[in-house]
Amino acid sequence: MKVLLVGRGGREHSIAMKLYESGQVNQIYAAPGNGGISDIAVCADIDEMNIDGLAAFAVEKAIDLTIVGPENPLVAGITNKFHEAGLKIFAPTKQAAMLEGSKRYAKDFMQKYDIPTAAYASFTRAVDAKAYINKIGAPVVVKADGLAGGKGVVVAHTIVEACLAVDRFLTDSGSPQTQPSIVIEECLEGRELSLMAFVHENNVFPMLPARDYKRAFDHDQGPNTGGMGAYAPVEDVSSESLDEIIETVLQKAADGIMREGCPFTGILYAGLMMTEEGPKVIEFNARFGDPETEVVLPLLKNDLLQVLLDVLDGKDPQLSWEPKHCAGVVLASAGYPEAYEKGILLPDLTPEDRAIVVHAGTRKTADGIVSDGGRVLLAGSKGDTLTQAISGAYGWLKRHIQTDRFFYRGDIGSTAAKADSP
Ligand code: ATP
Repeated sequence: MKVLLVGRGGREHSIAMKLYESGQVNQIYAAPGNGGISDIAVCADIDEMNIDGLAAFAVEKAIDLTIVGPENPLVAGITNKFHEAGLKIFAPTKQAAMLEGSKRYAKDFMQKYDIPTAAYASFTRAVDAKAYINKIGAPVVVKADGLAGGKGVVVAHTIVEACLAVDRFLTDSGSPQTQPSIVIEECLEGRELSLMAFVHENNVFPMLPARDYKRAFDHDQGPNTGGMGAYAPVEDVSSESLDEIIETVLQKAADGIMREGCPFTGILYAGLMMTEEGPKVIEFNARFGDPETEVVLPLLKNDLLQVLLDVLDGKDPQLSWEPKHCAGVVLASAGYPEAYEKGILLPDLTPEDRAIVVHAGTRKTADGIVSDGGRVLLAGSKGDTLTQAISGAYGWLKRHIQTDRFFYRGDIGSTAAKADSP
């Protein structure tokens, strides 16, 4: 079979590596791909948002199945376009992807279908939003309604900070995050958890739970990023809690979106806070998480292509997982998530020993592989314990990266790993 993978990040390299293991995949195409994906796929220089170009490419190459990594083309309607062209695609329609594309829609949806989430209110006028903030006090969370690439959320510890976020998201015409509406949410406390599932209509097949690290620096300091590392599975969440999340969050969401007349096909991702009152949804994503995918897929024993085909056919893919742990640490360009340099020559990226090297912002040049994004790569490893997995990932980074032009967090998985240390 011929598969087209849309995207250019670590998530897509991880998906490509898993598809490459499949005996059924004859050719992987990626658009646009990255320096690592190009080792195992034919990369076409088509932007993720060039939906017409992607559909034409899929027709020209007689692609059997298209898989979409990032959220922007989903919200822009890539799936609708592929369906119109009679092309098979594992991704939600524009309407179903609203669960990620609009935070306001997602909150209203959760309220309607009784899915546990933080109390909230939506606003289009700054004056009303600020009056509400003054009424409920801080800490409080302010969110721009639409996609903002990780920059549309402020967890405000003071009323002043919250009101500044309201201005930035709602009224500041110079801000790239300015949107017509915002959501203001109760600030939840607890440990975060990500649970992804393969979904087709009302069939939900959950993956292993994962935990990612969104802040740039150790001990959750610094700005939010796309994600600086992750590990899976997460063992401080009981199987009863996981069952509760599957039933009260993922299944209810799949059933609810069907009732809304826009059934979901693709990856449904629940970002959760494990609060004292039980799990509550922070966000839904309509695609594989990044970097969670990079630590979850290596533990999947099944042929990924077969899983996707089974799910699309309404069959149970009988997911099976290695009884191991996987951890990944993101290597980022100095300065990320703000301005950073590109084009820095990377050292030999051979994943020796038990390391997994997943390319994110990398590009092949005549001189070798160079950095081409904020998050450059993820060094990962599997292990019998989480401690082993973490030391495998850090061992590779220490052996290969000796420059301050890149940085990585030193504490990925550390609090959880203590529990399984001998
Ligand atoms: P963007 O829309 O900019 O891409 P995002 O989708 O990553 O952002 P969220 O996942 O909703 O945004 O929030 C980012 C982070 O902010 C969360 O991982 C969590 O740490 C924190 N956060 C969000 N909502 C809450 C909340 N209600 N209480 C506490 N923390 C929260």
